[in-house]
Amino acid sequence: MSDEEGSEEYLFKIVIIGDSAVGKSNLLSRYARDEFNAHSKTTIGVEFQTQCLKIDGKEIKAQIWDTAGQERFRAVTSAYYRGAFGALLVYDISRRTTFDSVSRWLDELNSHCDSTVARMLVGNKSDLENIREVTSEEGKTLAEAEGLFFIETSARDSTNVRTAFEIVIREIYNNVS
Ligand code: GDP
Ligand code: MG
Repeated sequence: MSDEEGSEEYLFKIVIIGDSAVGKSNLLSRYARDEFNAHSKTTIGVEFQTQCLKIDGKEIKAQIWDTAGQERFRAVTSAYYRGAFGALLVYDISRRTTFDSVSRWLDELNSHCDSTVARMLVGNKSDLENIREVTSEEGKTLAEAEGLFFIETSARDSTNVRTAFEIVIREIYNNVS
């Protein structure tokens, strides 16, 4: 946070977690660059993108981290979580196994971050309604039980992507301001 000429600046680190191929990288590229890749290849190493927005006239920088494939090894490093203010925990509504993994990801998040971290459960690929395996009700129920926000998104057709990130960013802002 800096204070020049009365203008405040906030930097919020947000992490995206969840099983491989649920659409984490595409949610980020849709939000940050309005891009979708139908054949995204896994990249090596941790990457983040920064998005700027204004809340109450304050300049917010959201530094959003992507696992870049680490999750294939069933865990991401503690460096990934360090300093996070928010997390998007993503599953794929067309693959139940990715929903079954949510509790494991929550455990990992809880072991690295304290309970004040803003959390959003994200059911991605809502465009795949015809092959849906997890109902919206199930997502909502789990989120309520665990005290998470809940939203269904599609990185492919852009549904709710901006909203998902901005709810988390706004919650962080409310927590710190
Ligand atoms: P990650 O491993 O979680 O980062 O997942 P990716 O972003 O690499 O996406 C995995 C695959 O799912 C890719 O083939 C994407 O094109 C596809 N995908 C990602 N988001 C969506 C979505 O919202 N709808 C559909 N139909 N496919 C998606
Ligand atoms: Mg990825």
